[in-house]
Amino acid sequence: MGQPNDKEIEPSMIAAAQADVSEGGADKAQDECGVFGIYAENEDVARITYFGLFALQHRGQESAGIATVQGDRIWLHKRMGLVTQVFDEAVLREGVGHAAIGHTRYSTTGSSVVRNAQPIVVETPHGPVAVAHNGNLLNAMHLRTEMELDGIEFESTNDSEVIARSIALNYKGEIVEAIRETMKLIHGAYSLVILTPEAVYGVRDPYGLRPLAIGQLPSGNHVLSSETCALHVIGAEYVREVEPGEIVRLDRRGLHELPGVPLAKPSLCVLEFIYMARPDSHMYGRSLHLARRRMGQEMAKEHPANGAHIVIPVPDTGIPAAIGFAEASRVPFGEGLIKSRYIHRTFIQPEQSMRDAGVKMKFTPLKEELAGKKVVMVDDSIVRGTTTRKLVKLLFEAGAAEVHVRISSPPVKWPCFYGIDMANQDQLIAATMSTEEIRRHIGATSLGYLSLPGVMRAIRVGKENFCTACFSGQYPIDVPNDLKLTKMALEPVG
Ligand code: SF4
Repeated sequence: MGQPNDKEIEPSMIAAAQADVSEGGADKAQDECGVFGIYAENEDVARITYFGLFALQHRGQESAGIATVQGDRIWLHKRMGLVTQVFDEAVLREGVGHAAIGHTRYSTTGSSVVRNAQPIVVETPHGPVAVAHNGNLLNAMHLRTEMELDGIEFESTNDSEVIARSIALNYKGEIVEAIRETMKLIHGAYSLVILTPEAVYGVRDPYGLRPLAIGQLPSGNHVLSSETCALHVIGAEYVREVEPGEIVRLDRRGLHELPGVPLAKPSLCVLEFIYMARPDSHMYGRSLHLARRRMGQEMAKEHPANGAHIVIPVPDTGIPAAIGFAEASRVPFGEGLIKSRYIHRTFIQPEQSMRDAGVKMKFTPLKEELAGKKVVMVDDSIVRGTTTRKLVKLLFEAGAAEVHVRISSPPVKWPCFYGIDMANQDQLIAATMSTEEIRRHIGATSLGYLSLPGVMRAIRVGKENFCTACFSGQYPIDVPNDLKLTKMALEPVG
C-alpha cells in the first residue's frame, strides 16, 4: 500500500487552502466532497477515476486522492490541492489496477491537512479496505471515543475514519455484513464508495441526504459518482441513483443490488438542486439546469422587477436562474459581472487594507452594460450578506441607476449539520434581519427571495423528498444537543 507522505506537503499550501476562495466565494455555503468508484478489469481505472474526480472538482478543492486495487494490495495516492495538482502521468501509471475509488475534499469535519484527505485505507485480517465519504456524521465523536477506549488508534481527525474503522472492526469475513452493521451505528449524511480487492461498494444513508449515481461504460463495466456530470466526461451512460439505505456492489460479474438498511425518509439536500451540484447533473431524474431556470421564472412571478432594463447573473451559479428570470419577465439577459476563472481555494487573501480587493479580484463590472440602467442582479443564495453588499456597491459604482437583487432560494436561517459548510446561525444574515433590513444592509433598490413553494414548483419533485432545514429549521435527522450548541443561536421551529 502506498502511503501519503506528509513531508511532501507544503504547509503554506495547506494554510492557503484554508483561506476563502475570495470574498466572492466565502459568502456561500460550501460543497463538501465528491466521490467516484469503478470496477473494470482491462481498463485504466486510475485514469478514469482521475477524469471522474476532475468533473467533481467543484465539490471540493482542498485535497484529492485515488485508491486502486493491485492484486490483494491497495495502492493509494492523496495530496493537498486540486485534482490536476495531485496527479500527473507518472502517478496515474503507478496506479494501474482493476478497481478504484477516488475523492475530492472540502473539509467539513477535521482540519484541512493531508492526513484528513481521502480515501482512507485500513488493514483488516481479511485484507485492506479503502473508504471515501461525502457527508457528515452526527455521532462521530461518540463512536470515536468508544473505539479509542477499546484501544483503536486514529490517524486523522475526520469523521470518515470512524466509518472506515467501524467497517474494519465489524469485518468478520463478510464485508457486506460489516458495512450493514456500520450503517446501523452511524447517524447522519453519508454517500460512500468502498474498495476491497474483490469489489467496489456504493452506499447511501437511509435519508439519501447526499447524492450518488450509478453509470455504465461502453465496456459494460459500472461506475459510481456523486454526480451524473462525471458520467458524461468518461463516456458512461446513467443507470440510476443508489437508493437511500441501499448497498450496491460492482465486481467482475457486474452490478449487484444488496439489502442495506431500511429507507427512512428521502431527504436529498435541496441546495444540491439550487446551486451545489453542477447544472449539467441530473437528480431525481430532473435536469438541474432546467430546474434552476424555472426557479428564475418562478422568481419573476413572485418578485417582478417592473421597468428593469437588464437581468444579469452573479456568475457562474446564478446564470440559469437569471436566464429564467429574463425569459419570464421579458427583460433582456446580459452579462454585467465578469468572473475570473482562475481563483480557487488556494487564492491568497489581500491585506485587510485592500478590503474590497477580494470581490474585485473575482468580479469585474461591465460599465458599458450597466451605466444608467435599472439592473436586476440574480444570485442563488445569501448566507452572510457580505458578498452581495459588495456586488451591489460594484454595480452602482459602474453607473447602475437601480439594483434589484433577486435570490433563487429562500432566506437561509438555520445552520447545516449534514455536511454543507455554512456559517453558524448568528452569522446567517437572514437569522437576525428581516428582508427589508437585509435590503438596506446590502444597499439594493429592492430585494426578493424565491419562496420554498416556488423552489418546489421549479424542481417538480415533492417537498417531502428533500431536506430543507437551512430554510425551514425542520431537520430530517435529529441533531444532538451538544452539536446544536456549536452552531445554533435559536431553537428550530417545527
Ligand atoms: Fe442541505 Fe440545508 Fe439540509 Fe444542509 S440543512 S442538507 S444545506 S438543505
